[in-house]
Amino acid sequence: MLKGSCMRGKCLCGEVEFVVSGTLPHIYQCHCSLCRKATGSAANAALIVPSENFQWVCGQDRITSYVGTDYRSDFCSKCGSPLPNPLRGRAEYWIPVGLLEDNTSLEIAAHLHVGSKASWDAVASSGVQYQEAPDLESLLKVLRQNADT
Ligand SMILES: [Zn+2]
Ligand SMILES: [Zn+2]
Repeated sequence: MLKGSCMRGKCLCGEVEFVVSGTLPHIYQCHCSLCRKATGSAANAALIVPSENFQWVCGQDRITSYVGTDYRSDFCSKCGSPLPNPLRGRAEYWIPVGLLEDNTSLEIAAHLHVGSKASWDAVASSGVQYQEAPDLESLLKVLRQNADT
């Protein structure tokens, strides 16, 4: 059930589409070596939202998964964009922020694994910096603090 404001997200080729509703939390970025490989960049940038606020619109048959020892990455089999996936064992979805069509109200609240970031990575000034990663509950608290509607 979707109500209130909805934000639409799409992969690069546009075949996979989803909507996120409700109050959006803040963004976190993870600068670890695995996230660098998965994104081909300095860090990932993601939101974690309750499952009831997430809904696929189309293209689910395009979803392919890579599952490693400590890492899962879902991506579009046509264009390779990372895609949302359910957090293991939890009623929450992980959403790559770069897929969202409208990003006006979002800001970064946390940076993870800054202690092992790439030497050329200039971490954005907004947000708490963690040398490693806090436990998930603590992170979720930081991401939900004073989040706008
Ligand atoms: Zn795609
Ligand atoms: Zn990471």
